Amino acid sequence: MGKFAEADAVISKIAICRKCKARNKSTAKKCRKCGSIYMRPKRKDIRVKK
Ligand SMILES: [Zn+2]
Repeated sequence: MGKFAEADAVISKIAICRKCKARNKSTAKKCRKCGSIYMRPKRKDIRVKK
């Protein structure tokens, strides 16, 4: 969990296109920008440093 619960909720709904790095809804099947099906979920623990 991050400090900002709202941000976590938003981030977890985002998918990033592996091709053009556009942000898409995590429910999207294809990138809205380039149509690529290769997407990855934006992980909320990606910035966590310990
Ligand atoms: Zn794309």
